[in-house]
Amino acid sequence: MISRKLTVAANSLVVGWACSLLALVSSAADFRAGIALRVVTPEPLLPVSGGAGPSHPVTRKEGDLTVRALALENGATRVVIAGADFLGFPAALGNRVRAKVSGIPPENILIGATHTHSAPDCYGFPDGKGGFAADLNYLEKVCLKMAEAINEAIAGLQTASLKIATGEAKGKIAYNYYAPQLYDPRCHVIQAIGSDGQPFATLVNYAIHPEVLGPRQGILSPDVIGPLYDRIRERGGGAALFMNSAQGGMVTADCRGPDGQGIHTWAECVRIGQLLADEALRIVEPAPVQSEPGLFCAAKSMTFPVDSPLLRAIIKASPLRYASEQPGRVSTQVNLINVGNAQIITIPGEALPNIGYYLKRKMHGQHNFLFGLTNDAFGYILTKEDWGSFKRYEYVSRTSLGEMTGQIYVDEALKLIEQSPKPVKLEAKPVVN
Ligand SMILES: [Zn+2]
Repeated sequence: MISRKLTVAANSLVVGWACSLLALVSSAADFRAGIALRVVTPEPLLPVSGGAGPSHPVTRKEGDLTVRALALENGATRVVIAGADFLGFPAALGNRVRAKVSGIPPENILIGATHTHSAPDCYGFPDGKGGFAADLNYLEKVCLKMAEAINEAIAGLQTASLKIATGEAKGKIAYNYYAPQLYDPRCHVIQAIGSDGQPFATLVNYAIHPEVLGPRQGILSPDVIGPLYDRIRERGGGAALFMNSAQGGMVTADCRGPDGQGIHTWAECVRIGQLLADEALRIVEPAPVQSEPGLFCAAKSMTFPVDSPLLRAIIKASPLRYASEQPGRVSTQVNLINVGNAQIITIPGEALPNIGYYLKRKMHGQHNFLFGLTNDAFGYILTKEDWGSFKRYEYVSRTSLGEMTGQIYVDEALKLIEQSPKPVKLEAKPVVN
């Protein structure tokens, strides 16, 4: 984007400074953003799912489930980043959403899940009795609401500038349940600011399992993400969107009490959600304003063998009819976005934090975002060295597509990074809190 701006200015010099200034003023209006959301809490409430297997009945809710869409536009390029309060949101549903949206190529729509463990099943997991708990009518309504939110975000595109920042989220927010120190504390934030100077959208990217409540307490809830959204709005950050990161094996919410036991209450969800919101706002506040951020979007299909008997059984039994062009394999869309001085890459599942660190190191942004559980969520993504290794990794190995998933994903992601243009670099040192 900077190079285009320089070209415009250089051409304008031929006809004088007045034109040059006009060109710069008009090009500053090129970048636009919009955000919209819909509540998708089922009425009456539905059972909730925290993983493969039967759902659990609920008797009440804490907070509401929402679907949210942030639209970005620069010239002819449009990108939508959507998020939903579910365990995962498979492409079998995401593609239904994409089919209901106009004004944007379907491959430029990224759809992620927050990974709350207290929301209805979006996969159609087998219930162990030959059936499934997923409510197909409800899922169709969710797809409609998400498409509505995306269409509204696009219709509401307004001139915007961005603040983009990376910093360590401090305080008791997340830890690795398997090995407490092995997690990534970095929180990445994109904030859209309107022409009135006020923020109207804040995207928070952080690795955490929102499972403070979990599926077995009879409660339907967005978990920590609901209070995070509320806090950001209350503090003037506008509508918020949370995109999870590389939170697999097993980066979870730090709800440990003084005795080391988990505090699995709504009050604890509020504490953690508000603290992460406050940290995200603190991190983004001093970031420089990018008044004309460039925007680039690439999409690539990746194919993985399905070696896991558990995942094979889920795919075969699901009423969602997972499209499979090749038997025993699944294909999914991975996106790479450059926006301003940031680069974003999506992960179709729950990558372990070591894969996350590696990718961020190889990416080309001054801020490198990983959107986990995005466009699909095929269980855990481990390196081939970790797969089937430690006893601790038995569960995450069984709940992954196979031994080579991590290797295939990382190799393909690195190719995508190398084949894509690099985002611009701001001359000023990026703010790191
Ligand atoms: Zn998980």
